[in-house]
Amino acid sequence: MTETIPSSAGEGQRDEETLEELVLEFGGTFGNLTLILSLPLITLYFYFCWRFNGGDVLPGAAADWSGFLEGIAPTWKAAAMFIGWFVFQGVLQQWAPGTLTPGTDLEDGRRLMYQTNGPSSFIISLAVVFGLHLSGIFPLRTWIDELGALISVGILFCYVFAGFMYWWGKRTDPRHLTGSFFRDYFMGAGHNPRFPSDGLFDFKFFCEARPGLILWLVLNVAFMSVQYERYGFVSWAMILSAAFQMYYVVDYFINEAAVLTTMDIKHENFGFMLVFGDLAWVPFTYTLQAAYLVDHVHELPMWAAVLTVALQVLGLYIFRVVNLQKHTFRSDPENARIWGKPVEYISTARGSKLLVSGFWGWSRHFNYVGDILMAISWSLPALFDSALPWFYPVYFAILLLHRERRDNYFCSKKYGQDWEQYCARVPWRIIPGVY
Ligand code: NDP
Repeated sequence: MTETIPSSAGEGQRDEETLEELVLEFGGTFGNLTLILSLPLITLYFYFCWRFNGGDVLPGAAADWSGFLEGIAPTWKAAAMFIGWFVFQGVLQQWAPGTLTPGTDLEDGRRLMYQTNGPSSFIISLAVVFGLHLSGIFPLRTWIDELGALISVGILFCYVFAGFMYWWGKRTDPRHLTGSFFRDYFMGAGHNPRFPSDGLFDFKFFCEARPGLILWLVLNVAFMSVQYERYGFVSWAMILSAAFQMYYVVDYFINEAAVLTTMDIKHENFGFMLVFGDLAWVPFTYTLQAAYLVDHVHELPMWAAVLTVALQVLGLYIFRVVNLQKHTFRSDPENARIWGKPVEYISTARGSKLLVSGFWGWSRHFNYVGDILMAISWSLPALFDSALPWFYPVYFAILLLHRERRDNYFCSKKYGQDWEQYCARVPWRIIPGVY
């Protein structure tokens, strides 16, 4: 089965796509449209589950549909909170102190500069949020009280902002357009949309972490504060799950520059998929465990606590070290050393070098193993009464399996025989000896 895409001239455009490509690009126009409509509904449904359905996945006797519909009605207050937060983060991205870091080589040989001022933006954000809480002006629990409306407003914002990014990408960098509106809206029209178009404010880099990732942390702390208000303590399950997620966010900012060699920054266009993923999906669904744990207070068995800590420590180590090995190598291939030795790599006809030392000799995406272990450790403290807090590891495993196939497909197209040589040298996709 093939689907023909209208094409105009330009690098990166395709005349025809295979079934494989269709699957890897999220089902073509129909699949993209389905995701554009369904992902926001899923996000709202999860809110229903933990807030108005007793934490169960399927509607039961406790289901309060009218309360839910009332709760998700957009409010001006929620709109001010969401947009205010977005603008505040944008101001920090633009003006907070930091350094300029070069990205990797683009197809046309240029290297864009990025404002890596994440650590100072992060610290200022938390100082403001906690300052407002302690002063009583804006208590943390307001984020949770307004959450339903905030999700609705966030969704509407993403639809509009993705539309703006489509228009902006089309205007400033139309080389990646396929000509199919829904696909370009979903996958993105521009590759590195900036403001001004040759300026420093990079929309994709900004959205990748600032508004969504920091909000994820703020919401987790807000859920902890709500539990404390209700019960007079914060449960160990909540502390372990939320604190480890919070550290993941902190770790991102400590190693912010490492994001510049990831797939999102290097390969993806900036469309609804990343806009919604970064700004709504991450803060509103990655917080499900904490949301669930607020009112599901249980004694955490010692085995679960020990296993949670062990999975988190191991996962974080793998995730961080694997990603840093690639980042260090790509930043300076000739002088990089891994495990005390000069690195080994495969040179490609395109000029890029593929690392085969360290964990990158074990499998082609060993970093994903780290992510999955951490995802399990964040859900384990919730134990097994409901499937709701287990959504994240299940979804994430599917995402990473699909992501690896996508990356493999596009790298094989890009590197051709060099990629085959690399795959022969590193045959395992994710888990050495298994997959
Ligand atoms: P990678 O960081 O593995 O990046 C893949 C890209 O790296 C390839 O497209 C290729 O690009 C380059 N590459 C591949 N193999 C090599 C090699 N041997 N040597 C040098 N460069 C190579 O993947 P992701 O961007 O998917 O993931 C980054 C991290 O982010 C992972 O830990 C992942 O789990 C995590 N993640 C987390 C998400 C979340 O929601 N929490 C969502 C998605 C990812 P090129 O050659 O063109 O440079």
